[in-house]
Amino acid sequence: MKISFHGAASEVTGSCHLIETTAGTVLLDCGLIQGGKESHERNRAPFGFAAEDVDVVVLSHAHIDHSGRLPLLRKAGYRGPIYATAATIDLARILLVDSGHIHEEDARWAIKRLAKKGKDTSGITPLYTQADALAVLDQFVEVDFNHWVRLDGLGRVRFVTAGHILGAAIVELEVEDGDNCRHVTFSGDLGVEGARLLPRPSSVESPEVLLMESTYGDRDRDEEGDRTEALYKIVRDTVERGGKVVIPSFAVGRTQEILARLNDLVESGRLRGVPVFVDSPMAVEATAVFARFPDAYSKEARRKYCSGDAPLEFPGLRLVTKVEESKAINGSRVPSVIISASGMCTAGRIKHHLKNEISNPRSTVLFVGYQARGSLGQLIQSGLSPVRIHGDWFEVRAHIEQITGFSAHADRSGLLDWYDGLGGNPAHTFVVHGDPEAATALATTLRQRDANVVVPQRGESYDL
Ligand SMILES: [Zn+2]
Repeated sequence: MKISFHGAASEVTGSCHLIETTAGTVLLDCGLIQGGKESHERNRAPFGFAAEDVDVVVLSHAHIDHSGRLPLLRKAGYRGPIYATAATIDLARILLVDSGHIHEEDARWAIKRLAKKGKDTSGITPLYTQADALAVLDQFVEVDFNHWVRLDGLGRVRFVTAGHILGAAIVELEVEDGDNCRHVTFSGDLGVEGARLLPRPSSVESPEVLLMESTYGDRDRDEEGDRTEALYKIVRDTVERGGKVVIPSFAVGRTQEILARLNDLVESGRLRGVPVFVDSPMAVEATAVFARFPDAYSKEARRKYCSGDAPLEFPGLRLVTKVEESKAINGSRVPSVIISASGMCTAGRIKHHLKNEISNPRSTVLFVGYQARGSLGQLIQSGLSPVRIHGDWFEVRAHIEQITGFSAHADRSGLLDWYDGLGGNPAHTFVVHGDPEAATALATTLRQRDANVVVPQRGESYDL
């Protein structure tokens, strides 16, 4: 058996691992490389393997850094099945089409820029289009959690819950290899204990070969206190001042986590009569996907759901898709909560809400996620004023708040708890999906448990 690492090796994004045996070839994930100077070239470069030689693709979850090169794999000739859970397929549909749209827009801008300078634009094409994204969706094959599925002539695969985002799976593979059956487990991205909607990562048996993520392999998150309580206080104070709470949020995952907490506050009677708007077509679509898969919720959320209480439905919640409705929110002076995308305020309807509220001392801008350096979100968060939105300057007079600790990734202790749950060291462990410091730190800790650990570099192959 040979394992090669084609992304998320000593880095976080671009998850893509190839397993070859005498029986065939399995590709685990096919993610987009995000951030960093080289990502543009690397996403456009040919794969380090022949796409048409891959027999089966297994997708751990829908995030673009795990799924975002699938349209390119199809363009390179792959026509076989892509196994994923039902929720992953529904979320991948939203995220991949959006990704295609972004690449189309990027190409349009690049052409405009070059044309202005009188330069040749004939070589500029989108990385892939929305049509390319839709085409690859036809290759998805739905797999239930916790059931072994046969892979024709290759072996079998089982998905168990990873708790990272809706539908996210830990992948267990049994692949035929000569006279042997090789047991490979891929952690995918592991979730956190104590998320409001999603379960903790399932424990699995120790495999022969483990591929394990290490995003937070070098750090524990601080105890953040009660995030629902923090949210309550911010909303209550803003409403008492007669302002609006504007929350920039990623459409998939974070928005639903915030909604579930607002749901608790409204249904316990602590927040009354405060309209909550989700103003982002993508977030509304993702929220509908969450509502369709109650089986993927945590035990507590499932119990509530069974007793008739859907965790993402409460009085006062309005899901906004139409532009006119979005504009109507801006026109109203009623105190409210507005959740909108993009999460870092770099695009989308959030910019309109910021233009309306950022100079209003009664209102609050509440950050609930990571803000990359240089993004509008980070500039506002850092206390800069005035800030430029859509070409105009705005004084920042609104209250600026943040609630941290909503990450969907297990921290160092969470990763080690999950590893210890294997009940023994695998023969080989490969630490992937982490910056070099994080991956090396986790590898060092696992070696203290006598584990045989490698932090692979991109392009490396191992014969096992
Ligand atoms: Zn992820």
